[in-house]
Amino acid sequence: MDWVAELAVSQPNFFVEICNDRRPSAAVEHPVKSYPTPQNVAHTMRIKGFLLNIPSLWVDGMALFPFILSKRKVPSRYFLNHERIHLRQQLELGLVIFYVWYFIEYLIRFVQYRNHYLAYLHISFEKEAYAHERDLRYLRKRRFCAWWKYL
Ligand SMILES: [Zn+2]
Repeated sequence: MDWVAELAVSQPNFFVEICNDRRPSAAVEHPVKSYPTPQNVAHTMRIKGFLLNIPSLWVDGMALFPFILSKRKVPSRYFLNHERIHLRQQLELGLVIFYVWYFIEYLIRFVQYRNHYLAYLHISFEKEAYAHERDLRYLRKRRFCAWWKYL
């Protein structure tokens, strides 16, 4: 079983790092086993997040700080990374401002592209998350408000 399956099945809680920590760390690959050790906590502030399995969800997944809602019982590691990037964005802006901004930007992109899916893909928060979801170390090196440059 890989770490995500382990995470989802045995411990549906995870940590959202909110400080930059540029040290390479095994913690990214094995969060269940390595969180939290005194060494990790000393360098990074972590907020607990929770993975919720909701089979009736109308989308594959969504981030609603401090929760990641997932339609699948065992989501992929890239899906989880994508949603964790959204959790970080929500931490920076606050949940209400994040969703108000998200919705307004969606409307602007919809006027631009005249297509729901294209509008969604061009929201700055989504552009950042899709660009980096396959880099499992991304959140460790990400700069504050990194979504800004995707506007
Ligand atoms: Zn997304």
